[in-house]
Amino acid sequence: MRRGRLYHLEGIVLARRNQGEADRIVRLLAEDGLYELIAHGVRKPRSRKAGHLELFNRVRLLVARSKSSWDVISQAEAIEFHPRLREDFRRATQARYVAELVLAFFQGEADARLLHLVEEALVHLEEEDGERFLRWWEQRLLDLAGYRPIWDHCVVCRRPLHPRRDDRQPYGFSPAHGGALCADCYAGRETDETTPLYALSPSALSWLQALQRRPWEALRTRPWPAASAREVTRLMERYIAWQLERRPATLRMAGR
Ligand SMILES: [Zn+2]
Repeated sequence: MRRGRLYHLEGIVLARRNQGEADRIVRLLAEDGLYELIAHGVRKPRSRKAGHLELFNRVRLLVARSKSSWDVISQAEAIEFHPRLREDFRRATQARYVAELVLAFFQGEADARLLHLVEEALVHLEEEDGERFLRWWEQRLLDLAGYRPIWDHCVVCRRPLHPRRDDRQPYGFSPAHGGALCADCYAGRETDETTPLYALSPSALSWLQALQRRPWEALRTRPWPAASAREVTRLMERYIAWQLERRPATLRMAGR
């Protein structure tokens, strides 16, 4: 058999699945794209590659090009590990959510910004419980994916939105329109099954604006009432499910 040409690749293991009796398909996020590669024999007990190809590891690979099938991982060396993302159920679920969104929003195409964003998420989730961080991260991912939600002006009348705690009327949120509605447009619109519409509290809107505009360090310790955090979480879930036309599977794992 003719040997394929070899190439080097560095990236993050985002997903894996079993193939055949002892092989595994590895989905790797690199600077220039998402790769699907095969690792032969890694499910055998004595495989030397297996430990290096764990989920969420950053790895350096030597890959052999194949014309007929997946390119073949010939050597693998992990250069960063995230053991807590595998051992701690909550963290593991959060990291899987990150991986699931990346794979769902980006089919094959990727760049250095995406790799950096994923790396940043894995490092954070390894260190601390990341629900708040994930809300911030979602805004950045959606931006890169071309689905940036609109929080700073009304998606119907384009009036700038400056939510205040003493606002009397709720704002609105329309996944189909891709963002927030001012109180007048929300009060005046009909909702139906094809264009659902939800009430949005001033506190949640104010947080959504901050999550989109501000660096993480500015938000990390800012007090966030639990009800407002829950509202933002639920709303982002709806927005993402609307864009993907399905609910992310990892939300079920998280019991949501
Ligand atoms: Zn409006």
